[in-house]
Amino acid sequence: MSNRKWKICVIGGGVVGLASALSIRDLNIGTETVDVTVIAEQFGRDVTSSVAAGLLEPYSVGSPEQLPLIKKWAMSTWDHINRLNCSEEGRKAGTSLSFGYNLLEEPDPDYMVGFREIFFNFQDMSERELAMFPPYRYGYRFTTLMANPARYLPWLTEKLQEKNVTFIKRRVERFEELAEEYDVIVNCTGVGAAKFNDARVQPGRGQVTKVHAQWIKHHVVAEKANGEVSYILPCPDFVALGGVVQKGNWNRDVCPDDKKQIWEGCCQLIPSLRDAKIIEDRVGLRPLRDEVRLESEQITTPIGKKWVVHNYGHGGAGVTLHWGCGKEAAKLVKDCLERVALQSKL
Ligand SMILES: Cc1cc2nc3c(=O)[nH]c(=O)nc-3n(C[C@H](O)[C@H](O)[C@H](O)COP(=O)(O)OP(=O)(O)OC[C@H]3O[C@@H](n4cnc5c(N)ncnc54)[C@H](O)[C@@H]3O)c2cc1C
Repeated sequence: MSNRKWKICVIGGGVVGLASALSIRDLNIGTETVDVTVIAEQFGRDVTSSVAAGLLEPYSVGSPEQLPLIKKWAMSTWDHINRLNCSEEGRKAGTSLSFGYNLLEEPDPDYMVGFREIFFNFQDMSERELAMFPPYRYGYRFTTLMANPARYLPWLTEKLQEKNVTFIKRRVERFEELAEEYDVIVNCTGVGAAKFNDARVQPGRGQVTKVHAQWIKHHVVAEKANGEVSYILPCPDFVALGGVVQKGNWNRDVCPDDKKQIWEGCCQLIPSLRDAKIIEDRVGLRPLRDEVRLESEQITTPIGKKWVVHNYGHGGAGVTLHWGCGKEAAKLVKDCLERVALQSKL
C-alpha cells in the first residue's frame, strides 16, 4: 500500500467501541498511518458498559452455531485481562481474579460447555458447598476474571488519548454523514443499533444495586428454573447486586420493584448483605441479538461505495468478549483498507 494516511471512525464509546478503536490504532500497515476518531452520543457513566460489573462469563449472547467464535473472542479477552491483571496496571484498570459459585435449581450438563477450559479450576460443587445455598441443588465452582468498567473504561480512554485518538460527542443518524470524511466506519453502537440500522437488536434491560460490603469476597450467580437470576459480584470498589433481564424494555429509570426483587434474591443467597450500605442503583440496556454481528459490509452513499465494519450485539457479555471482538474488527478494517487501496489503483 502507498504512503498515505487513513481515517477511521468508530461509532460508540462503550467497551466494544473503545477496544476496537485501540486495536485499529495499533494496526500494522507498513508505512501508512491510521487516524482514529471515536464518535458517540454518550461516554463514561452514561453508556451501558459502565453499568456492568464486568465479570468475564458468557451470558445471553450468540447462538449455538456461533459458539466457536464466541469462545475464541472470550479466550482472547480472558488472556488480555489476565495479562493486565498480572501487570502494574491491574488496579488502575479495575481488573481482579474472582472466585465463586454458579448455582442452578435444575441440572444442566451443558452449562458453560465451551467455556469451562477458559476459566480456572471449573468443577462441580460438593454437597457441603451446596448446603450453603438452599434451595439450589446443583452448581459449579471456578475462578474467573473481572474488568470493572468504572475503572476499565477510563483506562481504555487514557490509552487511546496517549495514542492521539480523537473523541467527538455527537449522535449519528446515518452512516452517510461520515462517508466523506472517513475511509472506513466501524459500528459499535450497542443497543443503539436497534434504532440505527438493525431491527434484530433489542434491549435486555438490566438493573443493579451497588453496595459497600467489603466482607463479601466471592461471586455468586444463581439461576432459578423459571429463568430468574440473582447475582452478587464483588468488584474492586463495591459489590454489584443483580439482576433482571427484561427483553424489549427501553426504560432507563430505576424501578423500585426490580430493586426489591434484586435485594431479596441476593439477601437470600448471602443473608449478611442486609448489613450492606447501598451506594446507588443503575440501569443499562444489554444489546441482545440472535448473533453477535462482527462483519464488514459495503454500503452505497451519495459519494460512492463505503465500507462499514459492524461490531455489536454482545448481549450480556460485552465485557467478556470486547477485546477479542475489537481485534477481529481491526482485522476487518485492515482488509477493507486493502480493498479501498486496490480499488483506487484501478
Ligand atoms: C446490569 C448489567 C450487567 C452486566 N454485566 C455484565 C458482566 O458482568 N459481564 C459482561 O461481559 N457483560 C455484562 N453486561 C453486558 C455489557 O454491559 C454489554 O454487553 C456491553 O456494555 C455492550 O457494550 P457496547 O460497547 O456494545 O455498548 P454500549 O456500552 O451501550 O455503548 C454503545 C455506544 O454507542 C453509542 N451510540 C449508540 N447509538 C449511537 C448513535 N446513533 N450515534 C452515536 N453514538 C451512538 C452510545 O452512546 C455508546 O457510546 C451487563 C449489562 C447490564 C445491563
